[in-house]
Amino acid sequence: MSYNKRLGQNFIVNPFYIERLLLLSDVKPNDIVLEIGTGYGELTKRLCEKANTVISYEIDKKLFKESQKIIAKYRNLILINGDALKTNYTFDKVVSNLPYCISKRFVYWLTSKSFFSATVTLQKDFVEKLIAQPPSKNYKAISVIAQLAFKINVYDKIPPTAFYPIPKVSSYIVKFEPKNQHILNDDLIKNINFLFTFRGKKVRTVIKHLNKNNFTNLERNLNLNLDARVENLTPHECFSIAKILLK
Ligand code: SAM
Repeated sequence: MSYNKRLGQNFIVNPFYIERLLLLSDVKPNDIVLEIGTGYGELTKRLCEKANTVISYEIDKKLFKESQKIIAKYRNLILINGDALKTNYTFDKVVSNLPYCISKRFVYWLTSKSFFSATVTLQKDFVEKLIAQPPSKNYKAISVIAQLAFKINVYDKIPPTAFYPIPKVSSYIVKFEPKNQHILNDDLIKNINFLFTFRGKKVRTVIKHLNKNNFTNLERNLNLNLDARVENLTPHECFSIAKILLK
């Protein structure tokens, strides 16, 4: 089994976790499922047995050709050589042993999609950031963005030995379900990221820095403690500031 580390190729070799992904994703016979990263098709096969249609993307041409041979027999499978995050297909559910190098991009991309659920594997350090609460060192812009847009459930911890090649850290199965659908857009995401470049600073400093002329107006509009530090703001407080910064 050859692999390319740069593309996040850590294949699941323990079938128990493939079954757990399937169970937790709750794929039904009517579902259209998007899989990110076909790999050698182990998860793809099981998805094809459960779903109405599986759209599976593999970015690596060599692996795509290999998987084509392995899983050609499934009539409800659309296999594509390309970047899954550029798909034009609509889908009900995402199920994926996600390439870890696209974790953050995946979460941003998901905020703009209509879907029922996304059940994926993610590395431990990234999961800790996703669910971090203020104030903690793991609480970042990505925590705010993910918690605003999704209900996030963390399930099984997967040991590194369940994958080949063996990664350095453990992973988790994480399920995202949309809440406040489409509350975010690219500009708001940009502003939340910008806000976190002021980590350690007071809200007052951020606003003064950005809106020197309108400061008194903004102060009146923002119903929050301007002496709070950025890393202590709740996701909704970050959202309010991000919205005001758009104006
Ligand atoms: N599904 C297989 C499994 O469970 O063993 C493979 C999982 S492996 C962690 C991730 C796969 O995603 C790799 O085969 C990699 O080449 C592919 N990949 C990486 N980035 C991708 C992208 N943007 N779109 C589609 N596939 C991608």
